[in-house]
Amino acid sequence: MDDCIFCEIVKGSVPCSKVYEDEKVLAFDDIHPMAPVHVVIIPKEHIATILDVSEDRMAVMGAMISAGREVARRKGIDQNGFRMVINCNEEGGQVVFHLHMHILGGKKLQDGLG
Ligand code: AMP
Ligand code: ZN
Repeated sequence: MDDCIFCEIVKGSVPCSKVYEDEKVLAFDDIHPMAPVHVVIIPKEHIATILDVSEDRMAVMGAMISAGREVARRKGIDQNGFRMVINCNEEGGQVVFHLHMHILGGKKLQDGLG
């Protein structure tokens, strides 16, 4: 999709610090980390928000969760703990309109969800 920063990363025209990749998803370090470990996992296919995942494409959600578990292991935060977050639309705090899941960890995260 034109003008989508995460599609540019999938295409390779914008660089990223890759953490994990498979046929469905790509994971890379967030450029503005909110925790010692902050990784973004995206589907390679452009999907704007979690509301736009059609039933026949729902397997991509499993792929993102599996990738998140693998990212946590690779970053060494699986046993101490981590958080998986998907923001949706304006009040959910979504800024990039290409579906993504944040993996946050490496410290005791603040209680509460906003
Ligand atoms: P959200 O607020 O859920 O839409 O989060 C978007 C996230 O993408 C933010 O944490 C940004 O720091 C991150 N981000 C934006 N552009 C890039 C980029 N080029 N490489 C890595 N992370 C990015
Ligand atoms: Zn995109």
